[in-house]
Amino acid sequence: MARRVMIAGNWKMNGLAADGLALVREIDRRARAAPPACDIVLCPPATLLRAVSGVAAGGPVATGGQDCHNEAKGAFTGEVSAPMLVDAGAAWVILGHSERRHGLGETDEYIRAKVSAAHAAGLGAILCIGETKAERDAGATLSRLSSQLDASLPRDSVTGTNTVVAYEPVWAIGTGRTPTLAEIEAAHAHMRLWLATLAPAAADAIRLLYGGSVKPDNAATILAVSDVDGALVGGASLKADDFWGIVAAAPVAR
Ligand code: PEP
Repeated sequence: MARRVMIAGNWKMNGLAADGLALVREIDRRARAAPPACDIVLCPPATLLRAVSGVAAGGPVATGGQDCHNEAKGAFTGEVSAPMLVDAGAAWVILGHSERRHGLGETDEYIRAKVSAAHAAGLGAILCIGETKAERDAGATLSRLSSQLDASLPRDSVTGTNTVVAYEPVWAIGTGRTPTLAEIEAAHAHMRLWLATLAPAAADAIRLLYGGSVKPDNAATILAVSDVDGALVGGASLKADDFWGIVAAAPVAR
């Protein structure tokens, strides 16, 4: 099955209106001028989502949130729900990012509830999984990926189009270090196989992104690895030239 490559930018907690809007305007301008061979998703902070979505509306760039609550509304001070993200123009939401799993103690079960909430609201979920350095050193990378998929993927709502899984080794995020290409290939092959048991009808179509220190100079080799259907990009998504360099490196389809 051919899968359209996705390049998603996670701006994290970066961007005030002036720089965030300048960034989306530049990406949007380039994407409209030369529509890319891949899907582009920009995930700005929640405060900028409506404005960023407004710039991108009607063009090839989609937008997403960086998290959502598992309830649609209610007494959850400070939280943002999946329907609110949709209302602000998002098509996607990143869930289970390691900075929330490890920094904020989010569990697989909680993340699964969020993925279900995203699906119920009509959002696509970009579900992040990945091993820590200690798990890697213990040779537990693949078993960690299976256990995270087992526990955080809601079997009843997953389809090939509403779910993307991002393999993000925790030790590779923001560090400038990446696994070897052989390690990325093994991880992605493992996820694809595991998905076939968890969600057989969707497994082939679900896109598997790699994330962790993807830059313009390593994007082409990483994106050429078998079963890598795109990239989730943090630091390099904050500069138009860097992000566009990764978009330009994307193959047409997998
Ligand atoms: C991320 O935060 O999802 C990420 C991959 O960050 P970076 O590209 O900076 O490693």
